[in-house]
Amino acid sequence: MSELTFTPVIGLEIHVQLATKSKIFCSCSTDYIGAVPNTNVCPVCLGLPGSLPVLNAKVVEYGVKAALALNCAVNTATRFHRKNYFYADLPKAYQISQYDLPLAEKGYVEIPTEDGGRYHVRITRLHLEEDAGKLVHEASDGRLVGADQSFVDYNRGGVPLAEIVSEPDIRSAAEAKEYVARLRQLVRYLGVSDGDMEKGSLRVDANISVKCSDGRWGDRAEVKNLNSLRALERALEYEFKRQSQLLAEGKTVTQETRHWNDVEGVTMATRSKEEAHDYRYFPEPDLPPLLLPDGYVDKIKETMPELPWQKVDRFEKSYKLNETDAMILTEHIPLADFYEACVKAGASPQRASNWVRTEVLRIMNEQKIEIEDFPIKPAVLAQLVSKVDDNKISTTAAREVFDMMAARRISLEEAMSECGVEEGGISGSNLENMVRGILKNNADVVEIIKTGQDKKGKKQKFLQGLIMKEARGQADPKEAASVLAQLLEE
Ligand SMILES: [Zn+2]
Repeated sequence: MSELTFTPVIGLEIHVQLATKSKIFCSCSTDYIGAVPNTNVCPVCLGLPGSLPVLNAKVVEYGVKAALALNCAVNTATRFHRKNYFYADLPKAYQISQYDLPLAEKGYVEIPTEDGGRYHVRITRLHLEEDAGKLVHEASDGRLVGADQSFVDYNRGGVPLAEIVSEPDIRSAAEAKEYVARLRQLVRYLGVSDGDMEKGSLRVDANISVKCSDGRWGDRAEVKNLNSLRALERALEYEFKRQSQLLAEGKTVTQETRHWNDVEGVTMATRSKEEAHDYRYFPEPDLPPLLLPDGYVDKIKETMPELPWQKVDRFEKSYKLNETDAMILTEHIPLADFYEACVKAGASPQRASNWVRTEVLRIMNEQKIEIEDFPIKPAVLAQLVSKVDDNKISTTAAREVFDMMAARRISLEEAMSECGVEEGGISGSNLENMVRGILKNNADVVEIIKTGQDKKGKKQKFLQGLIMKEARGQADPKEAASVLAQLLEE
């Protein structure tokens, strides 16, 4: 009997909070994070009798922008429906959503594969809807378990959402993560959402089922509470294993909603009220059909910013960068802007790319800062990089100066003088610093020399060669040899 194999089949439903200033059907502020509960509310978003919703035009614009970037066909004649369900976070007891006529359909996102290829995750639909309020459960010990009272905050109620539903085209947890990362990057590029998963402005529900090589299929599980890309990947890996195991044992997989527990690293079945859903959808009588005027979509097409893959393409062509480097530099627009400002200020594209991808990202990581707060301005980095390009200072010296500027937020001139780096020939403390750097990076060679195993002096010559290479002809060989000998004595 041949070994059974299993394939995961994954589709994602993503709710993206659209970054409009006011809510989807009223003029209340959408800025609910940290706001006093129930202060950004009005009769419309509280669902008081007699209040009428008015559609926010900006929401439609953002929805169409996202739809176009996702290669969707935009429906110019659509409408809203009422999705009826009773829950305390929904004051009207229905959510205004879209049903049979979503704003957009049939798109795709292109995902790079590990082997350098490309494949498409198809988008079924993108529709607009309103967010619900938030329930806060409070137990005497502050935990959810055993909560004896719940509070409701309607500040989030009526915040605009775009729900983006994919076809079940995803075949691994890693691909799911890549898809969400691309989508998040896209909404950020478009400026239609901040895409922050931890804050809940991008929420992912994952549907996963498993296909067995003997032809059996398990039912799908819907996994919720995925608050980061890491959680998404872990939860899907866990579910794939769990469902495969059940099938391997000849059992069936039941359709259910499961909750990801990030601390325990497991998914758990939630009380099953599945299949009982009857939302009794019907057209929203308080809103007219949404008819996009002629030329509306074309106009939005004209305002589309450069999209991530277009930027990658341009960076490859204009700056002669390879794809991997271009992708790293274009991950976020501000980082891409920083890089381009550096090149515009005179740095060579390749060297600027190396510096931004390694040194700049390292400092951002160490200091836990965003590129907008980077202590060294692009023009200053360009000056520093140009000094290396023009052989005025060595790479090692430039790195030291860079670190000094980043740590102490001082000027290039001050940092150079602090580090004892001077333009022109590499000598004195400059040379010494450089040799120290080389020795540090070649500790194994140094060890051989120091323990007297370098009888013919080949290793020392090798180090001397490294020094001259790094100095690119700017150091006096005799001085270099003496500094090297002196430091090897230490
Ligand atoms: Zn309101």
